[in-house]
Amino acid sequence: MKNILVVGSNFAGSTVALEIKRKLKDGVNVTVIDKFDKSIYFPSLIWVPFGRRNIDDVLIERKPVFDKYNVTFVNDCATRVSPSESIVYTESGSQYNYDELVIATGPKVNTDIVPGINEYNNYIGSIEGAKKIKERLVDFKKNPGPIVIGATQKAGCMGAAYEFLFNMNHWLKKEKIRDKVKLYWITPEPYLGHFGIDGMPLSETYLKAFMKMFDIEYRVSVGVNSITPNSVILSTGEEIQSSFTSLMLPFTGVDFIKNSPELEYDSNNYFLNLKDNYQHKTYENIWGAGLTVNVVPPFKKTEIPFSVPKTGYPSDTTGKIVANNIYVKLSGNGKYISRTWGRIAALCVMDAGNMEVIILGSSFFKPRTFALMIPNVFSDSSKVMLEKYFLWKLKHGYSYLL
Ligand SMILES: Cc1cc2nc3c(=O)[nH]c(=O)nc-3n(C[C@H](O)[C@H](O)[C@H](O)COP(=O)(O)OP(=O)(O)OC[C@H]3O[C@@H](n4cnc5c(N)ncnc54)[C@H](O)[C@@H]3O)c2cc1C
Repeated sequence: MKNILVVGSNFAGSTVALEIKRKLKDGVNVTVIDKFDKSIYFPSLIWVPFGRRNIDDVLIERKPVFDKYNVTFVNDCATRVSPSESIVYTESGSQYNYDELVIATGPKVNTDIVPGINEYNNYIGSIEGAKKIKERLVDFKKNPGPIVIGATQKAGCMGAAYEFLFNMNHWLKKEKIRDKVKLYWITPEPYLGHFGIDGMPLSETYLKAFMKMFDIEYRVSVGVNSITPNSVILSTGEEIQSSFTSLMLPFTGVDFIKNSPELEYDSNNYFLNLKDNYQHKTYENIWGAGLTVNVVPPFKKTEIPFSVPKTGYPSDTTGKIVANNIYVKLSGNGKYISRTWGRIAALCVMDAGNMEVIILGSSFFKPRTFALMIPNVFSDSSKVMLEKYFLWKLKHGYSYLL
């Protein structure tokens, strides 16, 4: 019986593992290794600091879900792979042989991008970060001051930072301290609403309108030189006073990839260079899915660099593509699917703090046959519905659904 090994089991990895098992049933052993025993629904982290969600609301125990489908779950950290031996090594000292390996280890956050990040940045993209911000806001409320939210150079997850900005504005109003706080948005994007995908129809117009409506001062095409306890120094030399700074940071591939030089990753970012069917270019029994896939921005390089967003829908889709392709390879039925990241549909909801914008596009990157941004100024009900749907899907292991 073939051994399928999946390293990393959040959006992409769990989709691959459950889909392969569903398609090949008892014809394969599927083992999943993840260093964290719970699935996390990242998009709701932006609500944790404001008490709208607790961390436990967005976590789901992994083992019971995998057990239900006869997938073996191993709670361990993979340290490296030796493709020539087809072995993955883990922190606990175990070794796992595989016939097919799927790498879905997501990102590592680069906290060395500028001085002051580790000490003074309030990072929203992790469980620890979101919890710390919640604590930090208790003191902030007693002594409010200016706030800087945004993204550093090379960052790519701008959407989440915009969401955090608008939710912060909403919270400040609710706490009746908005008039005591000057709110700034800083971004390497050349225009508001670029999002790392060269924008969507009306994205700049909507974002400008939000900034005006919410009285947020912004700077575009800027990088960060350093963060101090009470300011952010921009690449332009401008120093913005800040009592609370929260910047989205760049992502790289994880140490598991970096420590496996045979994988021939992109040495600038440790993401995997793969064929359009997500198979490794040299090792045909290695595949990558989700955020680990190296995606080259299709637009012109800007003076201040930034990356493309690697969101949940393409992470899930690449997982489904990999599962299909491994099924085709092992069963001899069907055809490989090849679809580059940029040609996968864009499907996202940007929360704007009790409002939202629904983002739909025929593909992530231009050219698109259709692209729409639908604002909902009455509530953020679509964002909430999407959350409920994904948590339900994750809890039941219904990875074949959209
Ligand atoms: C704050 C925030 C908000 C977001 N909001 C949205 C949104 O609104 N909409 C949207 O579409 N996307 C959003 N995203 C992006 C979305 O979360 C990602 O696209 C998605 O998580 C990528 O899935 P993945 O499976 O590739 O990686 P991940 O979800 O990062 O999963 C990687 C898994 O690999 C495991 N792992 C890593 N290294 C190892 C190792 N060495 N050994 C074992 N296991 C390992 C990790 O524990 C993790 O479980 C947001 C992201 C953040 C940070």
